[in-house]
Amino acid sequence: MATLKDAKRIVIKVGTSTLTHSTGKTNIRRMKALVAVISDIVNSGIEVALVTSGAIGVGVGKLGLKDRPTDTAGKQAAATVGQCELMFMYDKMFGEFGHATGQFLITKRDVEHEECHNNLINAFEKTFEYGAIPIINENDAVAVEEIVYGDNDSLSAIVAKLVKADALLILTDIDGLYDDNPNENEDARIIPVVEEITEGLFEIAGGKGSKFGTGGMITKLIAAQIATEAGIDTIIINGFDADNIYKVLEGHQVGTFFVAKNRK
Ligand code: GLU
Repeated sequence: MATLKDAKRIVIKVGTSTLTHSTGKTNIRRMKALVAVISDIVNSGIEVALVTSGAIGVGVGKLGLKDRPTDTAGKQAAATVGQCELMFMYDKMFGEFGHATGQFLITKRDVEHEECHNNLINAFEKTFEYGAIPIINENDAVAVEEIVYGDNDSLSAIVAKLVKADALLILTDIDGLYDDNPNENEDARIIPVVEEITEGLFEIAGGKGSKFGTGGMITKLIAAQIATEAGIDTIIINGFDADNIYKVLEGHQVGTFFVAKNRK
């Protein structure tokens, strides 16, 4: 059975759908639950880096915009507002449990430029050493097309590599990767363990008419591919119940477990 054993450092990725209501306003209950579980895990001796989305979504909510902007400047402006709000809330909530947070806003350029890359690794290490929780998002305000990751799934896998994490936990709004579209096929089942990320899996995740896949599972599979190839176990779980994080760390079968290649 594929389980996480003795993970000492993990990366958790949480998306906008977990952090916000359909109104765009912050989902305080879920955010609080997530912060409480992460704080508890850190107290138990596991280092956690949190990759968070939600800057644009929270910005739209805070500004009271009717729709999410579609132009670059609009998205960037919403992200600048939302990022402040997000970090304010994380810092306040983690602070209640006695934890300091450190904000990392990064772009592809920072990761690909050798000197920046090394500085980034050192900054992560120091942040862990100081006992703070690194919170990472893409630097949406400056990340124009040629330097943009675009989705935080890929970014979370890159961060997992940078911090040499033992595992990457991707929190999403469904229970894992299904073998068919659960909206159309009531017999669709969660795939518990994936040893090999094949073309077939990508077809399942993004197949025509598969609503559950579009804009979600494909990027998560890509992230799982990047991380597992770097020796990092990757688990996709439902983020609506933060206790799933405990279950994964305790070795229970939950969500979809992508087994690392050449585990460290
Ligand atoms: N960086 C974007 C934000 O914070 C999220 C990208 C994504 O949804 O993966 O809004």
